[in-house]
Amino acid sequence: MKLYSLKNIFKEVTFLEAVQLGLCEKQGLFFPKKIPFFKKKEIKKILKMNFFEKSFKILNAFIGNEISKTNLRKIIKKSFEHTIPKIRKIEKNIACLELFHGPTLAFKDFGARFMSQIIYFLKKKNKGKVTILTATSGDTGAAVANAFYKMKNVNVVILYPKGKISKIQEKMFCTLEENVKTISVNGSFDECQKLVKIAFNDSKLKKKIGLNSGNSINISRLLAQICYYFEAFSNLKKKYRKNLIISVPCGNFGNITAGLIAKSIGLPIKSFIASTNSNDTVPRFLKYNKWEPKKTISTISNAMDISIPNNWDRIIELFKQKKWNIKNSKYLKFGSVSEKQTKKSIKKLYKLKYISEPHAAVAYTILKKKIKKEEYGLFLGTAHPSKFKDTVEEIINKKIKLPEKIKHQKNMKSFSFSIDPKFNLLKKFLT
Ligand SMILES: *Cc1c(COP(=O)(O)O)cnc(C)c1O
Repeated sequence: MKLYSLKNIFKEVTFLEAVQLGLCEKQGLFFPKKIPFFKKKEIKKILKMNFFEKSFKILNAFIGNEISKTNLRKIIKKSFEHTIPKIRKIEKNIACLELFHGPTLAFKDFGARFMSQIIYFLKKKNKGKVTILTATSGDTGAAVANAFYKMKNVNVVILYPKGKISKIQEKMFCTLEENVKTISVNGSFDECQKLVKIAFNDSKLKKKIGLNSGNSINISRLLAQICYYFEAFSNLKKKYRKNLIISVPCGNFGNITAGLIAKSIGLPIKSFIASTNSNDTVPRFLKYNKWEPKKTISTISNAMDISIPNNWDRIIELFKQKKWNIKNSKYLKFGSVSEKQTKKSIKKLYKLKYISEPHAAVAYTILKKKIKKEEYGLFLGTAHPSKFKDTVEEIINKKIKLPEKIKHQKNMKSFSFSIDPKFNLLKKFLT
């Protein structure tokens, strides 16, 4: 598989190189030179396969012979065996695609676990040291830390904005220890992300500690996420597949990029909705044609509190490659939701006997607004409601249970360092 940098189309790398590098110079994102395409007949066949075989077909079409078929099948099994997605019917023409049945109860488990397996595969080939440096606005931290936990010769360093993630989110990665170090930064998520970007531009440092990113900028995470769109599609009744519209709660826009790629390789999803909270840089861009990020606003859907979404350039590139129009697109709708509306939707979903959390509720709100009579709508459930326990309990006025998987972490002690958002402080820590 050949990929190029969005900052320099002449800079070409293989898939394994792109996974290892994370980002290219000038913070260029990698993008596939040629997106595979499955004809209708092939799609039909893929849809009949089980989740692992489906994923193999898709990922093999991208990656090609860089990883042998046997090894890729093993990697897929290890990555996805604990993360099978589920569809929960909510209304007559609306269901939630629950992506939170993985080890850290977040959809990020899919991408993080696949990436960690690829990096481990690379490490076995190349030897040497690996440091995974990740900024998290909540769920990435837990998913990445968990995916690499106890892997030999792999160090994990996680940055997060102090006081801006939920208690349970924090517990899920700050209590692990062993090869996982955590740093709370006195600043916003965008500032954490900036620190990571600076570290990646420091080529000496990068080499010295074998720096690798765990964020959704890594192409392996994106590819892994394509697979569950196929799985979801195949689990829907045929009559619902024709007019399928999927609402994605967006932060860094990795999840929706993967969905749009799924469509671009032949999965006949009618359209996607980019749903955001008040951090609405993309909806405003699509409406007014002006790219004007504002200061990040803290909301109850905090994993989406991002005003400069990393993956947006990839969506632009995909549309360019496919010669799809991004303005007034049939394939990409958009909307943003206030806190008040989000809370109202959580209450409404509860009345429908479904306990949801703020991110999914954002997606549900905009789906309800946009869906037409003939359409079937999925909104993505990106986290288990118990990860936002305090918020959800207050809104629905009912206690919710923690799943067994995370119960034990709740009362464990957190271990975190704390720094101001200055690169020299981070560098000292890393070396
Ligand atoms: C990360 C995250 C999102 C946003 O996903 P992106 O791929 O960054 O757009 C949405 N919801 C939850 C719960 C998340 O953790």
